[in-house]
Amino acid sequence: MNPVEQLREDWGKLESRLRAQPDFHPACDNCALDACCFEPVFSDYAEVDDILARLTPEQTKDLKHAVLLWYQGAKAFFHLEQEGIAFPYRLGCVSCPFLKQGRCSIYAFRPIACRSHYALENPQGCLMPARAQQKYACFEQCKPFQAIAVRYVFAVGTLKTDHFGLLIYNRLCDTNEESKAAHGYQVEEKV
Ligand code: SF4
Ligand code: SF4
Repeated sequence: MNPVEQLREDWGKLESRLRAQPDFHPACDNCALDACCFEPVFSDYAEVDDILARLTPEQTKDLKHAVLLWYQGAKAFFHLEQEGIAFPYRLGCVSCPFLKQGRCSIYAFRPIACRSHYALENPQGCLMPARAQQKYACFEQCKPFQAIAVRYVFAVGTLKTDHFGLLIYNRLCDTNEESKAAHGYQVEEKV
């Protein structure tokens, strides 16, 4: 089992425990909206590489086209995020390159950021502009979640997190190392 598969398994077990708690009622159950797939999703290269390795050549070709569109729509917001402002990305309404006909095309292998994204109120509140007031579950202070994250970081050795779309773009479209470095806001944690 590679570190990404282990991460999915660990999260699956924790999610089962969370759902068994009487006070955990995420709005996401049976939600048919795709509003959260317009959110900024953060991932790392190990997770992206695991997902890319599971795609057929045809899916990879489609993804290359989709991620170019994503990049064209999202790049205007990168410099704003450097200032710590996340909301401009949402206002851009840029969909994840894996969103097809309103559904996730890699649902079984979607990133941990998507798996752990739970709205707590009415799903309609995930639509813009109401999304600014939606309440979401936050696991940053959840010790079992922290333990999973630490296990993953040690397993991959080096963690580079960035926009899911940007990491895919770097892998599939952008072969210019200077261009990659110029984005300049990747978070790197060495262990
Ligand atoms: S985050 Fe919102 S839009 Fe996404 S599945 Fe949950 S309720 Fe639906
Ligand atoms: S990976 Fe799937 S669930 Fe996650 S944002 Fe993209 S389309 Fe949505």
